[in-house]
Amino acid sequence: MNIILLGPPGAGKGTQARRLVDERGMIQLSTGDMLREARTSGTPMGKQVAAVMDRGELVTDEIVIGLIAEKLDGDKAGGFIFDGFPRTLKQADALGQLLDGRGEKLDVVIEMQVDDEALVDRVSGRSTCGSCGEVYHDTTKPIPADGKCSVCGGTEFKRRADDNAESLKTRLFEYYKQTSPLIGYYYAKGHLRTVDGMGEIDAVAAEIKAVLG
Ligand code: AMP
Repeated sequence: MNIILLGPPGAGKGTQARRLVDERGMIQLSTGDMLREARTSGTPMGKQVAAVMDRGELVTDEIVIGLIAEKLDGDKAGGFIFDGFPRTLKQADALGQLLDGRGEKLDVVIEMQVDDEALVDRVSGRSTCGSCGEVYHDTTKPIPADGKCSVCGGTEFKRRADDNAESLKTRLFEYYKQTSPLIGYYYAKGHLRTVDGMGEIDAVAAEIKAVLG
């Protein structure tokens, strides 16, 4: 099964994708994570995209489509979860072609709906485990009192450079301008399902489970 998690920054796409990886053996393809990795390892592409990402703008379609194309040729396991991709109509078309070319199909696009005001809180309190990527939040899911990640025991936690009010404003603007047209695009193809992303992590996971069966 191949699915897309669609929603604004802070909607909980990464958190829900990780659950699907654990529970269904699916493979999470997060272009945001791939780009951050490229930055950390200092590749020329990583250097090229750094400032754009910090401002909250989108990197070029060519770069992210290339990243996804590479990963589609790897392990497929329980199917792919596209997290943060596609973000433009051009990327959506490219994904359709990439899947077609590999004899695969897209099964469902899950739109996670969250109020804009909630996104600011979610994004500004967010941190992740530096070892396994588990996501924490200052108020809703604090780092355990012993300072160790509850999943892997890691003790280093990172905050994203673009998780600040100024970048979030740009990221939301980009979402509404460039990504939200995908809602109509996938609705027209009969792929779209919508879940309420405002609830607790478990409640949202249950809704996603109901959609996926
Ligand atoms: P994310 O982790 O999905 O919030 O992505 C972080 C940042 O990486 C975004 O604000 C963009 O600058 C860039 N990015 C991630 N995925 C894409 C994409 N599919 N298209 C363009 N830019 C992307």
